[in-house]
Amino acid sequence: MRKLASLAAALAFPTALAQPLPDLGGAPDAGLTPQLERRIGESVMRDLRSHPAYLDDPEVADYLGSLGARLAQSMSARHDFEFFAMRDHSINAFAMPGGFVGVHTGLILGADNESELASVMGHEIAHVTQRHIARSLAQQQQMQVPMLAALAAAILLARSRPDLATGAIAASQGAAIQAQLSYSRDFEREADRVGMQALDASGFDARAMATFFEKLQRSTRLADDGTVPGYLRTHPLNTERIADAQNKAGGMPYRQHLDSAEFRFVRAKLRAEQGDAREAVQFFEGLVRDGRYASEAAVRYGLASALLRVRRAKEADAEVARLRAAGGGGPMVETLAARVKQGTGDAGGAVALLAAARSRYPYSRPLLYAHLGALDEAKRHPEALEQLAAPLRQYPRDARLRALQSKTYAALGKRALQHQAQAEVYALQGALPAAIEQLQLARTAGDGDFYLNSVVDARLKELRAQHAAELRDAKR
Ligand SMILES: [Zn+2]
Repeated sequence: MRKLASLAAALAFPTALAQPLPDLGGAPDAGLTPQLERRIGESVMRDLRSHPAYLDDPEVADYLGSLGARLAQSMSARHDFEFFAMRDHSINAFAMPGGFVGVHTGLILGADNESELASVMGHEIAHVTQRHIARSLAQQQQMQVPMLAALAAAILLARSRPDLATGAIAASQGAAIQAQLSYSRDFEREADRVGMQALDASGFDARAMATFFEKLQRSTRLADDGTVPGYLRTHPLNTERIADAQNKAGGMPYRQHLDSAEFRFVRAKLRAEQGDAREAVQFFEGLVRDGRYASEAAVRYGLASALLRVRRAKEADAEVARLRAAGGGGPMVETLAARVKQGTGDAGGAVALLAAARSRYPYSRPLLYAHLGALDEAKRHPEALEQLAAPLRQYPRDARLRALQSKTYAALGKRALQHQAQAEVYALQGALPAAIEQLQLARTAGDGDFYLNSVVDARLKELRAQHAAELRDAKR
């Protein structure tokens, strides 16, 4: 475990791998089971969520989630996926064990169209559906789980930050991990093939994969400082791979894919939030002035977001009006309009706007979160509890809703209920010791009635049994 701990430290995921994980067992044919893959992925995710580069933005995650689900569906994947963004300028994406797929903001901003973004995501999703991580690791029989977890973390880091990974690995595991860092050429080829089929089957332009490869290669040649885009370092690109992509795309019918409004809004939002706030305002003002845009709505969206950052909410409000006049609409426009209202000090107006928007877009989860957040900001906590009831029944596995519930109870001074809800946040993230601790806090809070205490006791018993079973598995 010492090597593992030092690797974890080097990876800046201090406690990610400290959780006990079951080993592979003694059977010679034992492999990385889907369950174990999921738990390794969950374990890395737990610390990734508190990483400074982790982008905790439900709108960006929602967009990536629906794009990813569309691609995964066309591969008839039976996997659970979770897509998230990392704030990183490099053009890259990475798949972790268990279906967790990270997308760098640099990729979203660097893609010229939605099909290009989808081509990289399709490739990563294919690594998951084809179980490439498990198949790579399975070659090393009877490897101990800490080693597996270290490998998984190293793979993750290599895909995300190749520059850091080399150092971390040299310091710990050496050549054994190095050999596992990149998928074999066969796996890369398979991911390209499966990803491109998914691209075509889900209505995107399958040519985008080849054009994106060419663009990446061109940008490598042009860079004076010799920097290589992250994607090329983790997915080595040779002329054979490009030719392969071109050949396969050549055999597919030409299809023009129009970028979705969400793709444009997400890009505008990321660009507006990036770097210096005043520079971001100037950037979008320049686009508006020169008329250099494919979508007026998206540029107005970006300008309004940037204006909010420099607290010019009145002007942002005017931009939202122009954005609507230019035909812009949808859940992302409504949450922006609500943020603008909050910026002008109109907390009640934001609540009313979001309540109306939710009746128009009842399935938008980001709108639901924004509505609950606005109720919290307006200090209307009892109303927030009412609004939480139905969604919690509808989406019982939504950790963000549980966290909002816990926050609302805390604001109302209901401590037992606050800890009970927080326990479910941790349980959903697979952090059983933390969940158990919260239930104990709920039990000793002193403000739970007989009924609540019995519910907490029963859940405590359940989670303790579950945790004991995991520890048993780990020792076997
Ligand atoms: Zn790859």
